[in-house]
Amino acid sequence: MLDGQQRITSLGRFITNKFAIKDENGMPQIFGNMAKDKQKKILETKLLIYECVGTESQIKEWFKTINIAGVPLNNQELHNAVYSGPFVTKAKEEFSNSQNANIQKWSAYVSGSANRQDFLERALDWVSKGNIGDYMSKHRQDKNINDLKKYFNIVIDWVSSVFVDVETEMRGLEWGRFYEEYHKRSYNPTKVSAYVRKLYGDFVVKDKKGIFEYILGDNKDTKLLNIRIFDEPTKRAVYEMQTLEANTKKKSNCSLCAVGHDANKNKIWSFGEMDADHVSAWSKGGATEVRNCEMLCKTHNRAKGNR
Ligand SMILES: [Zn+2]
Repeated sequence: MLDGQQRITSLGRFITNKFAIKDENGMPQIFGNMAKDKQKKILETKLLIYECVGTESQIKEWFKTINIAGVPLNNQELHNAVYSGPFVTKAKEEFSNSQNANIQKWSAYVSGSANRQDFLERALDWVSKGNIGDYMSKHRQDKNINDLKKYFNIVIDWVSSVFVDVETEMRGLEWGRFYEEYHKRSYNPTKVSAYVRKLYGDFVVKDKKGIFEYILGDNKDTKLLNIRIFDEPTKRAVYEMQTLEANTKKKSNCSLCAVGHDANKNKIWSFGEMDADHVSAWSKGGATEVRNCEMLCKTHNRAKGNR
């Protein structure tokens, strides 16, 4: 048995009557009450035990091999095994204990379960800026987890002070990165809260998860919201209108080409060569409807950027 420390310990505890197991009739039996021949059989069974000594990367490889047979260990479970020591023990007491009263609060921002080490992984990810292995290796023999705990709480407190309402989509966001990027800016929680509500209610916003970083970044990066674009019938109708007018005026049906000075100033683009654009940008209050829709050739649409 390679990963058998816990199993070997359990065998030891069983033969010293620490717990009972069910016999073939479903009756719980402690070792001392078992038939003598069965006791003898257990006691005389030889266990093949290898005590493994190796570098951390070798140990990691062994664990990978073992895991092919059973439920795979996830990354953090592997890290815990490789860097086992006082630091991991302390860290698990705090972050991997489903009885910890803070778990519920943390669950608003961190997804996963304490048992599968998801909270510990997030805490380490945040404090180490993504270098979990290095951090665990460096702190392996530490007798406390003060820095880890402090940083995690700073991030959580910061999030909950900026965004006073808890939304489902907040779970699992990169709060550690957001904290690093944005914590020096100041936000008005009341205004932020009202703006979150507004964006949640706007059908044009397809990606609700993006709302939080969008607001943190001063409402600039609309890509984060995956803004709903004009639907096909709208684009077709606008295309037909523009093209009809362009043909009459002998100009390009792309308004930006039409005012240009190159060969494209008279070009009639096909529908497939054009894209829809918000005349008045969505981020400045422009609606996603026909009268705010203009078809531009793809080059000009791209040049105007994602607004
Ligand atoms: Zn154009």
